[in-house]
Amino acid sequence: MKSFAYERTGDLGAALTAVSQGARAIAGGTNLLDLMKLEVETPDKLADVSRLPLASIEAQDEGLRIGALVTNSDCAADLRIRRDYPVLSRAILAGATGQLRNKATTGGNLCQRTRCPYFTDLTQPCNKRAPGSGCGALHGFNRIHAILGASDQCIATYPGDMAIALAALDASVEIEGPGGKRDVPVRGFHRLPGSEPQRDNELGADDLITAVRLPRPVGGRQLYRKVRDRSSYAFALVSVAAIVRMNGGRIAGAQLAFGGLAHKPWHDPAVDAVLTDETPSLFDKAADLLLASARGYGHNDFKIPLARRTLRAVLAEATGL
Ligand code: SF4
Repeated sequence: MKSFAYERTGDLGAALTAVSQGARAIAGGTNLLDLMKLEVETPDKLADVSRLPLASIEAQDEGLRIGALVTNSDCAADLRIRRDYPVLSRAILAGATGQLRNKATTGGNLCQRTRCPYFTDLTQPCNKRAPGSGCGALHGFNRIHAILGASDQCIATYPGDMAIALAALDASVEIEGPGGKRDVPVRGFHRLPGSEPQRDNELGADDLITAVRLPRPVGGRQLYRKVRDRSSYAFALVSVAAIVRMNGGRIAGAQLAFGGLAHKPWHDPAVDAVLTDETPSLFDKAADLLLASARGYGHNDFKIPLARRTLRAVLAEATGL
C-alpha cells in the first residue's frame, strides 16, 4: 500500500478544511481501504471523520434524519425504520455481510465506487480507474454489467443495495461543502458514466455527506428483492425496491427503483406512473417501459428477461393480485 498521511478530527469544520486541502474522508473504510490495499486508490492523505457527531437517527417533522455515520447495522435495526421504511431495512440486510454492515456507514455506503472486476485489476484497461485507458469489460467478460444507461466509456453497475431503497423512497442526501449545506435527491446523486466514468456521483472533492433524509412514511407494501449468484456477499444481478399502495383491487401508488442494471440506482418515473390506478395487466407494460432502451453486451444479455421476470414477481407479491 502506498504511504499516506492520516489525521482524525471530531469537528465538522476541521474535517471540511481537511478535504478542501485534498484529504480523502474515511469512516468505516470498507470500500476505500480495500481499494487502497490494491493501489487502485492512492490518496496522499486521509481525514478520519468517524468521530464526527453524525451517528444518530432523529425524528423530524419531514421524516427521519439518518446521520452519515450511522452504521448500516444500526440503521437496519432501528425500530422506526423497520416499522415505517421496511424496504430500507431489507435492502441493507441484503448487502455485504454482518461484519461489513457493522463497519459501513450511511454516508460511506452512498459513496462506494461503482465498479467492476476490471476496475480492481491493474493489468487491465479501465476508464474509471485510468481515464482514457479503455474499458476492459466492453469486449471482455461482462456478465454482471449494465443493460441501462451505459456508455462506450463504462458499462459498470452501481453495486449497493441501500441506495436502491433510498431511491424508491425518494430520500435526499444532506451535503456540507464550501457553499454551505445543500440537499440532493438520492435519485439524482449518482451519475451515469457518459464521457466521465471516473465520476460516480455529484459529491465535490471538498464536500462531506452529513445525513440522509427520509420523507414522511409513505405506507404501502414495501419489498426488496435481490437476485444474485449466491445467497450472501454478492452484488445484485437485478434488484427491485418496491413500495406499492393498494386501494381495493387497484394500485393507488407505486415507487420502484432498480439495482444491478445501471451505473446508478435506476428510477424511471414513467414506470411508477404507468402502474398507478392500474391492475396486474399493466405489469408487462411497466416492464416494457423499464427495458425499452435496454442493451446487453453479450454475457449479460440474460439480465433483460431476468429484470422483466423479477419486476413481475415483485409486483405480484406487493399487490397480492
Ligand atoms: Fe472500468 Fe467501467 Fe469498463 Fe469496468 S465497465 S472496466 S469499471 S470502465
